[in-house]
Amino acid sequence: MGDTIFGKIIRREIPADIVYEDDDVLAFRDLNPQAPVHVLFVPRKAIATLDAASAEDAELLGKLLLAAASYARQEGLAEKGYRTVVNCNEHGGQTVFHLHVHLLGGRPMHWPPG
Ligand code: AMP
Repeated sequence: MGDTIFGKIIRREIPADIVYEDDDVLAFRDLNPQAPVHVLFVPRKAIATLDAASAEDAELLGKLLLAAASYARQEGLAEKGYRTVVNCNEHGGQTVFHLHVHLLGGRPMHWPPG
């Protein structure tokens, strides 16, 4: 566990545009942004997928969402709105197996997603 591209970013082994960090959470801009604001919120703890999270991670999962909401508010996205996404495994479109919350904002989002 931990040896993903996001693990390397957390350990500062590769660069990233980090916009927020605390004891539990790191947030950095997505390399391939899908909206004017596209930031990934990752736990320092290496949990591979949402499916791999357990009850002991409940507080950490809440912290990820609250950090995303707080950042969205700070960036002036909250009033118009934004989207948070957690992709899980193959059909969810997950490509990096270190749990993360996408925050997308700055344009209208569509539903259903692709
Ligand atoms: P997912 O498909 O939900 O697993 O999302 C993985 C996301 O990580 C994608 O949006 C990628 O563009 C993004 N990504 C991959 N490598 C990096 C990186 N080195 N720095 C920032 N974002 C990355």
